[in-house]
Amino acid sequence: MRIALFADIHANLEALETVLADAAEQGCTDYVCLGDIVGYNANPSECLERVRALDCPVVKGNHDEDCGGDHSLDAMNPTAAEALRWTREQLSEEQREYLRTLRMVRQVEDFTIVHSSLDQPQVWNYVSNKFDAMSSFSYQFTRVCFHGHTHVPRVFARDTSVKELSAESVQFEDNLKYFVNVGSVGQPRNGDWRACYAIYDIPSNTLVFRRLEYDILTTQEKIRQAGLPDMLATRLAEGR
Ligand code: ZN
Repeated sequence: MRIALFADIHANLEALETVLADAAEQGCTDYVCLGDIVGYNANPSECLERVRALDCPVVKGNHDEDCGGDHSLDAMNPTAAEALRWTREQLSEEQREYLRTLRMVRQVEDFTIVHSSLDQPQVWNYVSNKFDAMSSFSYQFTRVCFHGHTHVPRVFARDTSVKELSAESVQFEDNLKYFVNVGSVGQPRNGDWRACYAIYDIPSNTLVFRRLEYDILTTQEKIRQAGLPDMLATRLAEGR
């Protein structure tokens, strides 16, 4: 079994299609979505339907929650709030109901999935260092947990202490626990604009990160055509 794990698509259809085509080429047999299908970019409805058509496990991201709900967005960053209001209008009531019913945490095969972290997943903590990772590890009962949310690919491993490993490839060892951020498909923030996802090969116990160039000019053009904030287009090229 080879599983493609992807997160933070954020309505970027060109990046999503590129990732899914690569996953098929790489022999992936299954898919897992770690949340934030919508928000920021210009194809929320199309991305949502593309993910639903995979019929795969999906957990809820904070943007999925914000677009599915009707609560006030006034306390948010104004650019994100503007994109969320626009996204709410693009989705059908049935699509928004789908987003509302997504679960926060799931177990799939021998691993766990969550959008942000396992300690208080509903408050959307960011895991940016080993201390954040330690808090999540306390609630992790499988060897591996995959997540997203920061848009930065990262691997934390815990034995007697927590250390960070390089987010290129990992050989999972039995006596360790791993908390893995698979990076972002549609809005990377690690200074590398390419779409990022990861492939977990269960028979060999290995994880490999994939980074792919996609048609970013089309994505940027769609953002501008939709009248969304221009910085959402420029940040894509900067990978931040
Ligand atoms: Zn996100």
